[in-house]
Amino acid sequence: MRTEVAVVGGGAIGSLVAYALQRAGLMVTLLEPDKPGAAWRASAGMLAPHAEGLSGELLAWAEESLERYPALVRALEETSGVRVPLVLEGTWVVARSDAEAEALAPLEPLPAPLDRVRGARGGRQYPGGQVDPQALVHAARTALERLGGRILPAEARGYDAAVDGVRVYLEREVLRAEQLVLAAGAWSARFGLPVRPLRGEALLLAGRAPNTPAFVGEGYLLPRALGVYVGATSREGWGRSANLWGLRWLADYAHETFPWLETAPLREVYAGHRPAAERPWVGPVEPRVWAAVGHGRNGVLLAPATARILTQRILGPKPHPIP
Ligand SMILES: Cc1cc2nc3c(=O)[nH]c(=O)nc-3n(C[C@H](O)[C@H](O)[C@H](O)COP(=O)(O)OP(=O)(O)OC[C@H]3O[C@@H](n4cnc5c(N)ncnc54)[C@H](O)[C@@H]3O)c2cc1C
Repeated sequence: MRTEVAVVGGGAIGSLVAYALQRAGLMVTLLEPDKPGAAWRASAGMLAPHAEGLSGELLAWAEESLERYPALVRALEETSGVRVPLVLEGTWVVARSDAEAEALAPLEPLPAPLDRVRGARGGRQYPGGQVDPQALVHAARTALERLGGRILPAEARGYDAAVDGVRVYLEREVLRAEQLVLAAGAWSARFGLPVRPLRGEALLLAGRAPNTPAFVGEGYLLPRALGVYVGATSREGWGRSANLWGLRWLADYAHETFPWLETAPLREVYAGHRPAAERPWVGPVEPRVWAAVGHGRNGVLLAPATARILTQRILGPKPHPIP
């Protein structure tokens, strides 16, 4: 089997990179075994560079991504036929202590139901918003295929890069590619990349949500089509599903912070592994091999800029082809 570019991993990062490369005219094969515990399946999809405290180059990537999101989502929707809910109406940070109030000053009055957050003194609104990460990945994969790309439900087990190309080892066969992009999320250490799993659990409750995402203390809440998403835990290591420690943390947090959710029915429990690293690695690993890994808590936010950067690096300094 042959391809121009093999992309290992079709999560938030790999699916957008694969779509962007295919759209730029390369023949892409995406390897995606749909591993349980992928981050994109659990992700909140907040686009919140300021509330997440990004600075320097990462803040620049985040701001670029926020600018790119509307046109990117339009193009994905047109090509795939999949609707991708995107709302860019800001994010709130709520102050409850003196220190938080001082850090966020001048405080603005909170809209309902955030005015009912226990101990709330007011808050501050920042640019940003949210996208539905599951719809985004589904749309990018569908668009990739509609543009002529290929998705194999296969796990990459290793690779060899040589002057004449890269061999990617699958369970029963070898995929030969001219270039390889490693985007296997929290599993990327398998390919020698410095990434570790940081588990996150979250809840979907059938209750009233604010209109935009809101950060309160150690967690946050945001609107979803079927209710309100409350997240998230953060623990080192692997774990196949949510466990009692995570559920207790989330229940205590929701109970202590959002009194109106006290009796809201539980709709879903999410658990996924963020690909944690010192900082994202978006660039060359060795000749013909590229990495797009280590986006930690902000992979959905940083995905459009990541796809643009990698596409440009792989194609050379031409005008970038993605919206
Ligand atoms: C609870 C939670 C909340 C989050 N909230 C936000 C948020 O609000 N905003 C934000 O920006 N980010 C958020 N994140 C983080 C975000 O989801 C991740 O940064 C992002 O999904 C990383 O994308 P990725 O493609 O690197 O990894 P993933 O999305 O995990 O995808 C990796 C893919 O690689 C595949 N794979 C693994 N091994 C192989 C292999 N050997 N061969 C082929 N394929 C392989 C997997 O099947 C998987 O689909 C959150 C994460 C969690 C867990």
